[in-house]
Amino acid sequence: MKPASSQKAVETTLEIIRKRIPAYSEIIDRFSPLFLLKASLRDALVKKELKLPEVVAVKLSDGVPVLAGKDMSMWTAEFVEVADKMFPALADSLELDEETRDLLREYLIDPDNLLGLVQARIDGNWKHFENTSKQLGISPDHVLLYISENVCTPVFSAIAELLGKSLSDDIWDNGNCPVCGSSPSISHLSSIEVTDLDHLVGGGGKKYLHCSLCGHDWRFKRNACFACGNDENGSREFFYVDDVKHERIEVCHKCGTYCLSIDLRECEVPPQLDVAQLGLIHLDIYAHNNKFRPATPTLWNTLDS
Ligand SMILES: [Zn+2]
Ligand SMILES: [Zn+2]
Repeated sequence: MKPASSQKAVETTLEIIRKRIPAYSEIIDRFSPLFLLKASLRDALVKKELKLPEVVAVKLSDGVPVLAGKDMSMWTAEFVEVADKMFPALADSLELDEETRDLLREYLIDPDNLLGLVQARIDGNWKHFENTSKQLGISPDHVLLYISENVCTPVFSAIAELLGKSLSDDIWDNGNCPVCGSSPSISHLSSIEVTDLDHLVGGGGKKYLHCSLCGHDWRFKRNACFACGNDENGSREFFYVDDVKHERIEVCHKCGTYCLSIDLRECEVPPQLDVAQLGLIHLDIYAHNNKFRPATPTLWNTLDS
C-alpha cells in the first residue's frame, strides 16, 4: 500500500538510509533534492483533475501497457510545468557544466522539443535521444534520456496512482509495467496479510515488481526471472549481506540480469522503493563485479562503467 503522500515517504526513507549507512550521505545529498521535488510534483498532480487514459482490459490481457501508443500531447501542460520546476535539480544531480545547462535549458523551453522527448521515451524511440544529443553536441547520450525520464515520472506516477483499482493484477503477468511498459528497478515481497491462503503456504509475501519509470507496483510470479521468464530451479540465486537478509539481489544465471529486492515483512517502516535503491548500492556493486546486468540502469548503478 502506498502512503497518502509520496513526499513524506521519500523524506522518511532518505532519513533512514542516512542514519543507517553514513557512507551513502554523499550520494543522498546529490539525489535527495530531485527525489523530494519529484514526489511533491507527483502529489500535486494526484490532487489535480488529470486527464486519464482509458484502460482497455482486452489490450492489457494482450500485454499492451495502458500508455503504449498514446499521444503524450494530452499532458503537454503538465510536462512543461514539471520540466520547468525540475530542471535546476536535474542539472545539479547530473553535475552538468554551465554550457551544457544553457544548451539544454534553451532546448527544453520549447514545448515541442520537450514533448518529442517524452513521446520518444514512451514509444521506445532510442534513436531520437541519440540523434538529438548529437545535434545539440551533448555527451554522454544518457543525459537527455535521464532528463526525459525524470520529467515523465511525476506525470506517469500520478496517472498510475489515479488509475488505481482499474489496473487489476489478474490480467497482467508480464515483467514490464502495465501502465508505461518500462522495466522494474526493484521488487518487493509484500507485508504480511493473512487473507490470501494460497500464499501462506511458504510463509512468504506476494512478489511485486516496482516500475522504474512510473513507480507502479504489479504482482509477478515469485519463482521466475522478470526479464526472461526463467523459472528453472537452481538457475536463479539470491545474494545479501549476512545480517540484512531482507535486502538482496535476485540474479538469473540464464540471462545475466539481477533485480534488487526488499522483503517488506522485515521492515518496520515500508521504504519508498525508488529512494530505497540508494541504500542498496553495495548490492549493485557486488552484482557489477560479478558481471550481472541491472534490471534497469540508473545513474548510481552504472556510475563506474
Ligand atoms: Zn510504469
Ligand atoms: Zn533471466
